[in-house]
Amino acid sequence: MQYALVEGVPQEATSGANGICGQCGAPAVAKCGPKVMHHWAHAGRKNCDPWWENETEWHRAWKNLFPSQCREVSHTAPTGEVHRADIKSPGGLYIEVQHSAMTDAERSSREEFYKNLVWIVDARKFASSFSLHHILPDPSLKWAQDLAWVRVSRPPSSHSANGMYFKFSLIAKDKAEWPEGNMHEVFSLHHIMGQVEASYIGHHQYHWRRPYTTWLSATCPVYLDFGTERMMRLETYPVGNIPCVRLISKSRLIADLLSKTSAGDVCL
Ligand SMILES: [Zn+2]
Repeated sequence: MQYALVEGVPQEATSGANGICGQCGAPAVAKCGPKVMHHWAHAGRKNCDPWWENETEWHRAWKNLFPSQCREVSHTAPTGEVHRADIKSPGGLYIEVQHSAMTDAERSSREEFYKNLVWIVDARKFASSFSLHHILPDPSLKWAQDLAWVRVSRPPSSHSANGMYFKFSLIAKDKAEWPEGNMHEVFSLHHIMGQVEASYIGHHQYHWRRPYTTWLSATCPVYLDFGTERMMRLETYPVGNIPCVRLISKSRLIADLLSKTSAGDVCL
């Protein structure tokens, strides 16, 4: 933990300090060795919050982007269940910064508990099995809604990875003329690249070998942090319902996390 109560006031760990856990009241001891990130630990037993994961420098860096009163905030459900969120934003968003793998059961129970929740996932460990592919147009545009993109195959073939699509309007026309047929003209993104670039708002196809499927099933927004300025939100592209990511700058995400009150309004 970054904070424990010392004489009733949340304090960061300093060498030799003693405090108490703000959630359960158990004694907390400061861990401030030369090679460990300074933190508090429950004296002689496990953390009172079963959802708590050991903090890394990565966790601490995310928490430190928010005012100190936003970090490690306990939330009590109507049932009396208590957990400590990594971050509760000034607008009331709960933000969980998650480094370790997680089961579906734990992921969904946290979503149910916090409700207004945003996930920040440490994606650095699977960066080598994740590849970003071609851009997609703004799906709200009428012409874009006629394009049926070929899902990037696994392993990625250069054709699908560079962008290929059918047209829904031509498929319908073919079916009207040849009800038995299933051959349709296929097009290449290459030919309309200028138009797609002009309408690009961050959507891309991607390929994820051995994906952490719990993040694909999440009901709250998931932002992947590959350790760069470019965050990726996992989404479903609404035209054809294919998996996609949306690229969002980290600075924009942080600004929205600090100002928005609803998880669904972040980086709309
Ligand atoms: Zn505790």
